[in-house]
Amino acid sequence: MAQACLFCRIAAGEIPCHRIHEDEEILAFLDIHPVRPGHALVIPKAHHVWFEEIPEPLGARVFAVSQAVARGLKEIYGVERVGMVFTGIHVPHAHAHLIPMRHQHDVTSEIYLRDGPEAFHLPPQPPAEELAEIAEKLRAKLDL
Ligand SMILES: [Zn+2]
Repeated sequence: MAQACLFCRIAAGEIPCHRIHEDEEILAFLDIHPVRPGHALVIPKAHHVWFEEIPEPLGARVFAVSQAVARGLKEIYGVERVGMVFTGIHVPHAHAHLIPMRHQHDVTSEIYLRDGPEAFHLPPQPPAEELAEIAEKLRAKLDL
């Protein structure tokens, strides 16, 4: 584990998160600065900076959990599609963003673009109770 890595610390339980799914290798939890309600992150617990460095069996597990979370998001939010993207902009620990897509710009969101294309506007953090409720709904939808 990389000592200063935020997601390693979350995976180790040192920092709380709104957990959706957890097993020995994978953690899925809500992004606390969601583009849309339900915006989730799926990470391997092992520290890999880049998604292309995740060994294939583990990468396949990240993908399988992401698929299950996406199915739950579609059911809860009634969206046609869930976007999945690895950007690696803020935390150097590979993480898949899963975003219920309400608009074609929801992966490169207008929220992010609010201060112009050269800046990055962080979406507001919803109340913890709201996030806890979303995480609970998603946990109930997973069939892992
Ligand atoms: Zn890490």
